[in-house]
Amino acid sequence: MSEYIFNKSWCKGCGVCVAFCPKKALTLDEIAEKMERDPEKCIYCGLCEHYCPDLAITVVKDRKPKEAK
Ligand code: SF4
Repeated sequence: MSEYIFNKSWCKGCGVCVAFCPKKALTLDEIAEKMERDPEKCIYCGLCEHYCPDLAITVVKDRKPKEAK
């Protein structure tokens, strides 16, 4: 299961993530100056996390559930 964690309070709305997203899954709300993501388009590639200067995004792709012992 993949997970997308966005810390909105750390986002200053620079738009770097929007520019680098290969699936055009991100948009910038010009009024709120915050990023919005379309989960239907996102492929969890992690580029937005990599380029975010404010460390506001964490992408965890295909996290495997822990096995019971
Ligand atoms: S993980 Fe990749 S596809 Fe998803 S929003 Fe970020 S850059 Fe776009």
